[in-house]
Amino acid sequence: MRLTPLEKLTTDMCKDDNTIKELIIGRRVGFYKVRGEIGCGTFSRVKLAFHALTKDKVALKILDKTRLDTQAQRLLSREISSMEFLRHPNVVLLYEVVETPSRLHLVLEYAGGGDLHNRICNEGKLSDTTSKITFAQILSAIKYMHNINIIHRDLKAENVLFTSSGCVKVADFGFSTRVSNRNKVLDTFCGSPPYAAPEKPCSILFIYSGEFGGSAG
Ligand code: ATP
Repeated sequence: MRLTPLEKLTTDMCKDDNTIKELIIGRRVGFYKVRGEIGCGTFSRVKLAFHALTKDKVALKILDKTRLDTQAQRLLSREISSMEFLRHPNVVLLYEVVETPSRLHLVLEYAGGGDLHNRICNEGKLSDTTSKITFAQILSAIKYMHNINIIHRDLKAENVLFTSSGCVKVADFGFSTRVSNRNKVLDTFCGSPPYAAPEKPCSILFIYSGEFGGSAG
């Protein structure tokens, strides 16, 4: 019997020794073949991967479940639950979450053009035209999020990624929150201290430990 490519891949994942070995050692995650490292965060490593059938590139955010404390678990669950709702050309798409006994894998849309912070550090200030195009895309993403009651709460140049063709993708929804009433003012002090507004300087000094967040609104 002739198998479709998808049937063959699924069968290989259960029966083919090489494929099973790759799954065990983490060279494969679900349908994705894992390649080199792109970056790392406090609790995660991000690797380039591609779909074994479609060859689409993705960013695989890998989290070791045993290293996640309560705070990290809360941030991760916010990231996943916000991203599940987000479908916009300027927001990094979460394709799926793959869980193994020891790890969680967030399969994310790949933004291979680096981030805005690095771009400014390496190339200097953006031209007026590029700034306008970039800013308009960021605003479009924020307007969309706010329309569906999701607030990012950690917008900064490091979280503005680019695709290889220069399209903006807002990323990192670890501090995001969903609100039931958009007119209510949020009062949880969270985000990245170097970017914080100066209204609460004492709180910054008091709770600063790299990055921080709160559980309320
Ligand atoms: P922290 O987890 O401490 O807040 P972070 O937000 O930088 O740090 P990650 O979200 O794990 O951590 O991202 C680590 C790095 O991986 C980023 O700096 C970025 O360079 C890269 N990266 C993350 N997501 C993508 C993506 N979708 N496409 C391409 N690169 C990405």
